[in-house]
Amino acid sequence: MQKTASYKIGFSGLKDGHHDFEFDLGEAFFAEREFSEASSGEVKVQVHLNKHPNMMEFTFALKGTVVLPCDRCLQNLSLPVDVEEELIVKFGEEEDLDSEIWVLSENAYELDLEQLLFEFVQLSLPLRKVHSKKDCDPEVLKRLQIEEDENYDSRWDALKNLNLE
Ligand SMILES: [Zn+2]
Repeated sequence: MQKTASYKIGFSGLKDGHHDFEFDLGEAFFAEREFSEASSGEVKVQVHLNKHPNMMEFTFALKGTVVLPCDRCLQNLSLPVDVEEELIVKFGEEEDLDSEIWVLSENAYELDLEQLLFEFVQLSLPLRKVHSKKDCDPEVLKRLQIEEDENYDSRWDALKNLNLE
């Protein structure tokens, strides 16, 4: 097991075969990324690498919690993160980090997982991020409801003030 503060795996010095890595995605990770939605989080990442002479197979297991604002009441909402992902990396003349199989330059010696891990977390979150209704902040909901009513009223007034004569 190796623990590092960065999210890089230096693979060039590794023997062919199996290797395990562990990363912690903490508050700093979520604050640094432009993850405007996620105010914080605690996610443990386990990476398994099976290194072959000309390619590498990675499996990722992410487990933890992300805290972000609820879409309904805007208060903190903790969402679980529990995903497993795989990545195959090959080597070639032209680097390609956008396809399903990544291609690294022949001279590459390390792999930076930061962006990838961030995307794994993002993809694991539901589209609609809300508390179950009873857990939403009732005060905020009441205020939002009043604001909505006021908006409705003012639109209604504007209509009433139209000169229809
Ligand atoms: Zn809520």
